[in-house]
Amino acid sequence: MGIEFRDRIGLPIWRRATEDSVKRNRNDERLGMFRNISRRDFLQGTALALAAPSWARAQSPSIPPSGFQGQDDASTARGHRVRDGIFRQLPSHVVDTGESYDLVVVGAGLGGLAAAHVYKKERGGNARILLLENNADFGGHARRNTFKWNDTTLIVNGGTYDLEAPEESPPEAREILTDLGIDTERVQGFRDPDYRERFGLDSTCFFGPDVFPEVTKKQFIQGFHTIGWEEFLAKTPLSESNRAELLTLYTTRKNYLADEDEPERALAAMTWESYIRDKMGLGDTAVRFSDIYATDLGGLGCDALPATHGYSDGPGFFGVGGKGFYEEEGELWYTYEPVYRFPDGNRSVARQLVKKILPDAITGEDSMEGVFNGKVLYDRMDMADSNVRLRLRSTVVRVEHIDGGSRVAVYYATSDGEIRKVTAKSVVVNAWGTVAKHIVPELSEGQREALEGYNHCSALYINVLLDQWKPIADAGAFEMYTPGRYQTWMHVLDPLHVGAYQPEHRPDKPTVLSMFKYLRKPGLSIEEQLKLNRYELETKSFEELEREIRTELEYVLGPWGFNPAEDIKAITVNRWGHGYIVFPHPDVDSPHHIRGQRRVGRISFAGADASGSPWTQGAFREAHRAVHEQLAL
Ligand SMILES: Cc1cc2nc3c(=O)[nH]c(=O)nc-3n(C[C@H](O)[C@H](O)[C@H](O)COP(=O)(O)OP(=O)(O)OC[C@H]3O[C@@H](n4cnc5c(N)ncnc54)[C@H](O)[C@@H]3O)c2cc1C
Repeated sequence: MGIEFRDRIGLPIWRRATEDSVKRNRNDERLGMFRNISRRDFLQGTALALAAPSWARAQSPSIPPSGFQGQDDASTARGHRVRDGIFRQLPSHVVDTGESYDLVVVGAGLGGLAAAHVYKKERGGNARILLLENNADFGGHARRNTFKWNDTTLIVNGGTYDLEAPEESPPEAREILTDLGIDTERVQGFRDPDYRERFGLDSTCFFGPDVFPEVTKKQFIQGFHTIGWEEFLAKTPLSESNRAELLTLYTTRKNYLADEDEPERALAAMTWESYIRDKMGLGDTAVRFSDIYATDLGGLGCDALPATHGYSDGPGFFGVGGKGFYEEEGELWYTYEPVYRFPDGNRSVARQLVKKILPDAITGEDSMEGVFNGKVLYDRMDMADSNVRLRLRSTVVRVEHIDGGSRVAVYYATSDGEIRKVTAKSVVVNAWGTVAKHIVPELSEGQREALEGYNHCSALYINVLLDQWKPIADAGAFEMYTPGRYQTWMHVLDPLHVGAYQPEHRPDKPTVLSMFKYLRKPGLSIEEQLKLNRYELETKSFEELEREIRTELEYVLGPWGFNPAEDIKAITVNRWGHGYIVFPHPDVDSPHHIRGQRRVGRISFAGADASGSPWTQGAFREAHRAVHEQLAL
């Protein structure tokens, strides 16, 4: 029997299995829950120790926690102690390291690494720079998952996926990409251009009877985003009225806000769903398909997100001036194509940045191929004789001016519980906006209030190693959009080759199936959803997730011969609690991120959060701004 968990205000959270139900049962056996496979679980990039479930311990005492750089979940706990105000009062014993820098950067995500790069470039090699990072790895959201199967090594992103819309990058971000030697045209060249044709694969959409009652047989329909909407919809097993609804959603050029005096304000004041229902007059099917874009790019459903997100990313907004779709040859096409990416997403970009600021910390030549295939030497990151140092497992707990405002003291907690102090001429805080408000006591009330408006969605990036993927190829798919289902979207490995990395992308060879799941609680307010989603993300057991993953894959791919017990060889779950930045109530007149990023003396604020959107190039622009604010002092 299941227990229903309720939160403090009495809202049901989800049904959690009791001891009884984790015992072997017929479904678990069929799904392959008892198979001895590699299981890895990362929370915010930090490896969690996997408590092997009782059945697995009995069956396979050797199931490893598959730790990453020897991490445990201590860094997450340290971060949460900052949030809980434990360090508001510093302990009486603080170790003064005596170290003094030109610049200290808080947080070594893409933005923090970019800030260090820009500062070093502007000030020259003698500039003394320290990056302090909470986690046991650099890169923040930009993570790599590596899988090995027999002689094959497969590399995939665990977080930040691609260089979105590089042609729209602000000039500061372009400059950084150029400095790194990242040439987006050459990145496109990593892709096998004939792969889809060779195996008859396409972008597909899945239709099953549990989500669409009029559908009698599970089907993948090819051509989602790749052929005209009328042609695509005519192939779907949807009812005529649902097809008509989607045709309007995807092809309308009407301005549904023509009677609004201030359309931008109107969009900010309504949810994306109310735009679809009340302004467009469409129903559940249009909402379900819009959820694809809402979750993938905003991290929540369109029931929760403001309609401004729809304007940026969704169908149905073209006539209002929306950016998600553009017109070419009489059709409206999805803007987020083509995709510019390395196999490990923007992790390669983070590596390139490390190579620039700490050339000895990554082996191999300084080229896209060299850095992708190079080895990261973690013991070269914090060398006493280096002008640039990157210190991991170091959680900044306080940043404040000293010496009459001429310098800044930065206090950080180490993994063994010590509080240490360094000083700097300037500090760039590139931890999330939600962290900045806890560590900089000198913020004004107004700025603190702006930072209160920052929130992050909760996402699961799940990577499943398959020893072959013939069932998926038989379904004609390389990517599968799955409206109304467990995940928004999934795909097999992109056919990418980078230098020495030359995996064979063939249906009879291993692949990694990536599933993108965004936590939601439709029916609750956006604030309640954000809170409960985070709670679920942090507390749901790996075992429950694994059962969900296997059940879903069996349902969707089973008719094409997929057998979860036989075909799944490893599962890695990346849990992102501080996922994409979300502003539940956008302020049109004075955006939160503009107020939240104001310089406080020798302390500047950067990161994707400061750009107001979850975009790598936005983080680069803010890094550039923050460094130049400080250099101008
Ligand atoms: C799952 C996922 C997928 C994404 N995909 C894309 C994509 O495809 N394209 C895109 O452009 N953007 C994407 N994003 C958005 C992404 O956030 C940005 O592109 C970029 O990675 C943000 O970099 P950042 O440095 O601002 O933040 P982060 O990468 O989050 O780095 C912040 C760092 O600060 C550290 N930190 C926090 N508190 C402290 C403290 N007190 N002391 C020390 N360190 C601290 C954190 O550990 C973290 O490493 C994605 C985000 C997520 C979560």
